[in-house]
Amino acid sequence: MTLFTYCSWCAGELKQKTQTEHICTVCHRTTYNNPRASTGVFIVNGPSVLLAIRKEKPHKGKLDVIGGFLEFNEDPIAGLKREVKEETGLSIKNISLIGVYCGLYNEDVSYCTLMYIAEIKSGTLIPGDDVASLVWHPIKDVPTKDFAWPWMKDALTELKARIDKKQK
Ligand SMILES: [Zn+2]
Repeated sequence: MTLFTYCSWCAGELKQKTQTEHICTVCHRTTYNNPRASTGVFIVNGPSVLLAIRKEKPHKGKLDVIGGFLEFNEDPIAGLKREVKEETGLSIKNISLIGVYCGLYNEDVSYCTLMYIAEIKSGTLIPGDDVASLVWHPIKDVPTKDFAWPWMKDALTELKARIDKKQK
């Protein structure tokens, strides 16, 4: 555990108690490694869904959802709109939560993603600096073997179920 070596309050050395708790050997305060909160979205346009190719490690070159970590005390929908604007240049509408999916970002960081479905409200599609590229895939034929995160398969299944329900 490399992220949790020194105490944020007194710079004393931390001793790992559990995967979550790290106790300062000097001031005895606990530093917690809780899951980080993030948001993600399937932007849907007709039969297609917009996904991103990851530019950075981990899972560089893999297929990811658009989104990212929330900022301090940020409302999830506001955070999602901010990330979508940064990564795609688009504004979104009809934003609806489809589920919460958790995983490991790397060996030190775990996260839970609030996963949404949305449509384009306005804007011109321009990939942001933090994505390698943006790709439209037919929802029925997304290359799931290229997914960066295992939970994306479950989220995609939920997306398909939502769309099927809408068409009935
Ligand atoms: Zn301390």
